[in-house]
Amino acid sequence: EALGPTITVGEILVEIMATTIGAGFLEPQPLTGPYPSGAPAIFIDQVAQMGGSAGIIASVGNDDFGRLNIERLERDGADISAISIIADKPTGSAFVRYRPDGARDFVFNIAHSAAGDVRMTEAAHALVARAGHLHIMGSAFAIPGVADILENAIKTVKRRGGSVSFDPNIRKELVDAGRGRKLVDDILAVTDLLLPSGEELLIAADSADEATAVAKLLDGGVSEIVLKRGRDGSSFFGRDGARVDSPAFTVEEVDPTGAGDCFGATYLTCRRAGMEPERALLLANAAGARNVTRRGPMEGVSSLADLEAFIASSTTESIHA
Ligand code: ATP
Ligand code: MG
Repeated sequence: EALGPTITVGEILVEIMATTIGAGFLEPQPLTGPYPSGAPAIFIDQVAQMGGSAGIIASVGNDDFGRLNIERLERDGADISAISIIADKPTGSAFVRYRPDGARDFVFNIAHSAAGDVRMTEAAHALVARAGHLHIMGSAFAIPGVADILENAIKTVKRRGGSVSFDPNIRKELVDAGRGRKLVDDILAVTDLLLPSGEELLIAADSADEATAVAKLLDGGVSEIVLKRGRDGSSFFGRDGARVDSPAFTVEEVDPTGAGDCFGATYLTCRRAGMEPERALLLANAAGARNVTRRGPMEGVSSLADLEAFIASSTTESIHA
């Protein structure tokens, strides 16, 4: 923490949700939103909520969707100095509707929006120059030019003695498409903390099972892996066979989007503050669980006091049950 803020790079969006369950957007229907969103934005907002210093390199349009996001991030204590306002592009957006089986239909405006136009401005260089930790979001790989921005930020942060975390929340097809694989491997080579969810672990390691994937990544130089398992909680894997499994909290899931980002931000911020993996996992599970109880991806962010109160009043389900 003393070294400088946790920073990330990537998309800022609004999310607009269907209020009914069903298939897609082929007829008029009730919607709710806009809600602040974008995995990197949710992550950095949660770091700030936890009292960590936090900044983001991103772009929004000169419109209410952009202002809504900037106001939220600023209110929650994030450094917004490296968010560019792009005059001739709208803020990115995602319309989402849930199907009865939990699958989602989307209409995205990202690639041709401000979200897809991240720029290395003077303010962005200044943020990188004082950063102590870089968190890389796989979702941002879709942004043209992001590989160069990340390469520069990795070098600067590592030169200062800082660290790197990586959430490979990236579609498998994007990894398999040649350039994606190289980018993932280049980032894994400098990753200190890896935060995959479910089969992202196997995709990142290019392995067939969990144990092989974990061994391969730790051998490759990653110092800790924290695997997100949704309703089954999470696991920590460290050097020399260290392992901690932590059960999920029992909550009513209203909106699962953003759980992984709140989880990762909480785990990282706790570790940067010097907490042991076991305590960091418990607080991160609580942050993921709290987030899914609220509609809107960034509406369920938590302070440390929120998490402690939630843990004190909750029960967990054993993942070995
Ligand atoms: P996202 O949907 O944001 O991409 P993710 O797939 O990266 O999420 P998850 O494993 O779904 O990550 O969620 C992260 C953590 O949040 C889990 O490890 C768990 O602790 C908690 N969590 C998620 N969903 C639930 C749930 N339904 N009940 C309780 N805890 C949950
Ligand atoms: Mg995820």
